[in-house]
Parts: sequence; C-alpha cells; structure tokens
Amino acid sequence: VSFGYEDIPATEKTARVGGVFTNVASRYDLMNDAMSGGMHRLWKDRFVRRVKPRAGEQILDMAGGTGDIAFRLQESGASVTVADINPAMLEVGMKRAQERGLDGLVWTEANAEVLTFPDRFFDAYTIAFGIRNVTDIPAALREAHRVLRRGGRFFCLEFSTTTWPGFKEVYDAYSHKMVPKLGQLLAQDADSYRYLIESIRRFPDMPAFEAMIRDAGFVQTKVEPLLGGLVAIHSGWKI
Ligand code: SAM
Repeated sequence: VSFGYEDIPATEKTARVGGVFTNVASRYDLMNDAMSGGMHRLWKDRFVRRVKPRAGEQILDMAGGTGDIAFRLQESGASVTVADINPAMLEVGMKRAQERGLDGLVWTEANAEVLTFPDRFFDAYTIAFGIRNVTDIPAALREAHRVLRRGGRFFCLEFSTTTWPGFKEVYDAYSHKMVPKLGQLLAQDADSYRYLIESIRRFPDMPAFEAMIRDAGFVQTKVEPLLGGLVAIHSGWKI
C-alpha cells in the first residue's frame, strides 16, 4: 500500500501513520492554521453545517484527533464520541476540551477498521482528514455503515483533487515545496509533512471515492467540492 512517498507492506502502514501523528500531535493545531492559512477552520465549519447535528443525537467523530469537529458538533447539544487510533492526538484533544470548559465528550481509542460499538448505534458518523490515513479504507467504510442506524448519515471531509485548471499546478508546487519546509520550521519534522502531502496526492479522486462509499452500502451519495475539489465533502445515507 502507499505510505505517501513510498510503497510499503499493508501490515506496516498503520504503525507508520501512528508514528507520524505521535510526532505531530503537540504541533498539530498550529500547523493546520499555518499550512492552510486558517482555511481549515472554514472547511470544518461548512462540514458541520452539512452534518446538521441536533440535540440528543448520537454522533461518532472518527479519527477525531484533537477535537476540531467534535467541538463544533457538540454545540448543537448532540452526544459526541471522539474516536482515534492515536492516544497522543486524543491527549491533546482532551486537554483542549478541558481548557474550553467542555465536558460531556466521550474520548476513545479505536481503529476505524474494527469498531467495538454495537450495530446501528449512531445517528451520524463523521470523519475529517482521517480516511486517507486508514490502511484498509473499504473496511472502515463498512464499519461506518454497520454502526449507523437506518436513516443514519455518513460525512467525510478530505483532501481530493481540484479540477480547477491552473490551480492544481499552483497547489502542487506550494505543497511539495512549502509544506515540508513549514513542517521543518515549525515542528522540526519535514518527513511527517512529506507523508501527509504525498498521501493526499495518492488518494482516490472524487468519483472513485464516491464509488467506494456506495460499495460499502451507502445510498444517495453526494460530493461537494470546495476550491474545485482541493477539499471535498462526501456524504451518504444508510437505509
Ligand atoms: N479529524 C481531526 C481534524 O480534522 O482536525 C484530525 C485529523 S488528523 C489529519 C488524522 C487523524 O486520523 C489522526 O488523529 C490519526 O491518528 C487518525 N487515524 C489515522 N488512522 C486511523 C485509524 N485507522 N483509525 C482511527 N483513526 C486514525
């Protein structure tokens, strides 16, 4: 399988990705702002508006990391479970929640490929900038489908491939030159950021990823491209 800039055995990817996020955890929020010029906040705001969380709903924020999506979801009064494979990311998230005086979030270590939640438990499943890091994406999508109730909704925010002519070239040049430099400068870690950029480049394009979501059993799938698809919101329903 692809580990960004190289191909490695599938059995190694989960551990290698674990290393990346353990390295970046303490600088993760700062780096998101630095590298997206703050834009990730707008993408996340829009994403959560699309999810339309409601008070009383059970929502699973998978690969929830340091809590950016969960904090937004929780404003609606929904019950939010943050699941992530990486304890260092969760640790930062729990600290942020404490600093903001937010309680009521459930934080749990879990691999998106094998969930221990019961069938049909959640009203909505969200995953933001997480799915491309998962080794077995079809398995994660099947698990998302399993833990959703009938009528439950799936939402994924992820980098994709922009279809705006010219913009793709500008973005490629920026990401390949600048992002590892910023990673080195701000987090003393160019390699982790090289992985993150390459993993974006290798991720399936919008039609291919939408097809994977349908293959997992979701219906009425939809794609909303942001910046021509540089980032995309994929969604689907379980019936
Ligand atoms: N959702 C958060 C956000 O938008 O800020 C965090 C996104 S961060 C780029 C990706 C997260 O995916 C990391 O916290 C990483 O630990 C997590 N992750 C990677 N592979 C995973 C897996 N197999 N299961 C669950 N989480 C995983």
